[in-house]
Order: sequence, then structure tokens, then C-alpha cells
Amino acid sequence: MSRFFSRRFDTLAAYTPGEQPQDQNYIKLNTNESPFEPSPAVLEAVSNAEVAKLRLYSDPECKLTVKAIADYYGVDSKNVVLGNGSDEILSFIFQAFCDKDTPVAYPDISYGFYSVFAQLYGLESQVIPLSDDYSLNVEDYCGINKTVVIANPNAPTGMAISLSNIEKILVSNPDNIVVIDEAYVDFGADSAVSLVGKYDNLIVVQTFSKSRQLAGARLGFAIASEEIITDLNTVRFSTNPYNINRLTLLAGEAAIKDKIYFETTRNQIIANREYTVAELKKRGFRVLDSKTNFLFAAHCTAGGEALYKALKADGILVRYFNKPRLSDFLRITVGTREQMDALLASLDKILSGKDDNDA
Ligand SMILES: *Cc1c(COP(=O)(O)O)cnc(C)c1O
Repeated sequence: MSRFFSRRFDTLAAYTPGEQPQDQNYIKLNTNESPFEPSPAVLEAVSNAEVAKLRLYSDPECKLTVKAIADYYGVDSKNVVLGNGSDEILSFIFQAFCDKDTPVAYPDISYGFYSVFAQLYGLESQVIPLSDDYSLNVEDYCGINKTVVIANPNAPTGMAISLSNIEKILVSNPDNIVVIDEAYVDFGADSAVSLVGKYDNLIVVQTFSKSRQLAGARLGFAIASEEIITDLNTVRFSTNPYNINRLTLLAGEAAIKDKIYFETTRNQIIANREYTVAELKKRGFRVLDSKTNFLFAAHCTAGGEALYKALKADGILVRYFNKPRLSDFLRITVGTREQMDALLASLDKILSGKDDNDA
């Protein structure tokens, strides 16, 4: 830290992303990306002619991509705003709808960025513990007079809450924003997008990173009332009006229009998930009920950290959280059937006490 760094960041602990080894030597099951390539339509859209146009600024209104997303969800373009990843959208939301009079509330076990943004923007936060079984108690969020941020399904647990429970939170906090972060919704939860017309305090956040094969393109979006989208655009235009680059705008538009590719790949992930859950349970794992493209699993005897290290030594990268209530678990991204079989074979080797070093 330099002596010039603002004192207000004295205690700021930045977000720690999952490992992103650039040598690509691992079976990478640690940051919930898709194991599949982007749709062929994306490759076609990001053509040489478009690369030549990189000398020009991108469309600050992101018109065509916004329209394609709005059409997909059956809303108006005025209800959609794009971010450089949904992380940026969340950042805009914390700036726009939280302050010293409006603190933020979120679960103790959830996406790590919520507490980082709360610190970054100097916000008071109410951190609400999940139940002992990692479920979210909806009553804890009712009538609390704070900006509420909930990932549904949650990460890293993978567990989802119902739309009727989300409605309870919306109805009981009519004068506060309720953010539903749906990064994983395509893998089995009900989207709250259908409630946007009914509740003017709802913001639904989604991303192209998990279910649409574009984590590296950085594209996320929010769907909300026209007034809320106007506010988010005020923050966006005051930060970076060209926040989505030309290639990403085209990639996103092509990806959301290719419904068949989307359905095929997500159904494959869901099938691989169910297969892997059953196989992990056979091997003595407790696996939380996942509606996502990852599994949160703890072994009955082997510790989380030891398994994480042994898998890594065997070329398989999963996510381990060295934190209270999480340290017994591994968070494992659901990949291809081949990747899942490699994971299971490696676990068999590790759990039987044999590894490549024994001979
Ligand atoms: C991955 C993730 C995000 C961020 O995704 P982007 O790549 O920034 O779009 C947001 N929320 C949750 C819960 C996530 O897991």
C-alpha cells in the first residue's frame, strides 16, 4: 500500500477470484464456467470485419444487444441495462441504491463480492446467517428496511428459494430495493424476471458467464422497472459509458439468439450434475441440493482442504473456502461427462489412499 492510498480503504479486503491458471493444464472445475465453447453463432458474429471496427467506440446504448435480451425475456428494452460482467452491474446497484441511510443486507454465506462492495462504498451491512442446513430463512429478510441482496440460487451452496418466498420479501420491503442475483438461475431455479412488472422495487441480475459460455467476454445485465434502469444508466454513464466493448456486444447478441445451443448445453450440464451427485453420494459425500452448475460437497471423513490439494496435485482444480461452516466442503463445477468421470476416478484414487506417488 502506498502512503497516498485513501484512508477510507484502510480495512478494505479486495475480492479474491478463483485461481485462473493461464497454462490450461488443469481440468478446471473451480470457477463455474461452461465446459462448452460459445455457440457457433458467436464465432460467426465476431468476424474479421468487426475486429477492423475496433478503432470505433462501441454503442453506449448497446441497442441491439439490449433488444435481443429484452425480446428473450419478454420485456421492453427500457427494462434492461448491460454491465461488464454482472459484477459491474452489482457495483452500479450498490452505488445507486445504498448509502448511510440505506444499509445493505445479505446472507453470511453467499457471493463474496457483496461484502466487498459494501466495504468499498463504506456501507453499513446486516449480514444474516443462513440456517444450520444452509437454507435461507425468508422471514429474516421481511420488513427489514434495507437494500436486500440475495443470490438465487445461492453460491456456494447451490440452493434455491421459491418465487413465492421472493414475493414475500418484495411485499414486506416496499420502500427498499430487493436484488435477486440470478447468475445460476438457468440451471434449475425459477427466475424472478416474471415479477418485474409487478414490483417496482425488484432488480434481477443475470450474467452470460455461467450458462452462456461467455465468462471471458464479460457481459451481465439487470432487468427492472424503467425508472430503476434509468438510475443505473446514470451511474453507468458517470463511470464508463462504453462499458461493453464491440466484440462482446455482438457475442452476447448472438449467444442469446441461439436458443437451441443454450438449451442443449444447459440440459447437458443438468444431466451431468445429477449423475455426479449420485456418484459422489456413493463415495460418502454429503451434497447440498444444487440448482446450479456446481456442487457443494463434503466427504464423511476426508477434509475439504486435503481433498482440494490432492485433486490439484492430480490435475483437477476445484474451489475450497477456508472459512467457518465451509471448510469441510469442496465447490465443484459441473463439466462434461468426461471431466466428471476424471474427477470421480481421481477421488477414488485419493480416498483409497493410493496415488501416483505410491508404487
Ligand atoms: C459468477 C457470479 C457473478 C459474476 O459473474 P460475472 O462474470 O461478473 O457476470 C455474480 N454473482 C454470482 C452469485 C456469481 O456466482
